[in-house]
Amino acid sequence: MTVRRRLQHETAGAGECFPANPYCGTRTRLPAEDYVIKEKYLRRYRRLAEFLSEAGQPHIAGLDALMNVGPDSDEIWIEKGLSEAEKRFVAIHELVHARRQLSGEDFEDYQVEEPIVELEAIARTPTAVLGQLSNGLALTLLHDFLTDFGQFNPNTAEGLAAIQRRISVLLGGRPTTACAPASKSHE
Ligand SMILES: [Zn+2]
Repeated sequence: MTVRRRLQHETAGAGECFPANPYCGTRTRLPAEDYVIKEKYLRRYRRLAEFLSEAGQPHIAGLDALMNVGPDSDEIWIEKGLSEAEKRFVAIHELVHARRQLSGEDFEDYQVEEPIVELEAIARTPTAVLGQLSNGLALTLLHDFLTDFGQFNPNTAEGLAAIQRRISVLLGGRPTTACAPASKSHE
């Protein structure tokens, strides 16, 4: 689940950010230093999840994480009952949401945004961690496809662009960013 943080460059509507968003594609690393990750028993926050759902935020079954929460909206809460591998994967997933928001790449539509975030998270998670998750073999195969067996480094502009092209392939050719990258795309 994502609570969308209001960013300065979001004052324009999503449509207006295309194509001249100077933030687009500028962040490739996960903004781990900008967030405090806390483990909580999130089932206690089911009422909050329901409220957010009513307020237009997406509701997902099985609340594993919340982001942009806490007094300064800089906390990510992760379900304490998960395994260590699951916590690591969920943290990466939430940080991909944050990266895309900070970079102006995220789509307003949760149904569009969520699979892109999940696939980038799979690309960024070490196979040793993916292998410990349920469906670990399938996730590892996806990781190998998305990163071309680890050749694409998501922390570089070229590597992330290559991973996003493969995400697009998996999603039937859909665009993977809501804005146009500042640099020209590589073929
Ligand atoms: Zn998500």
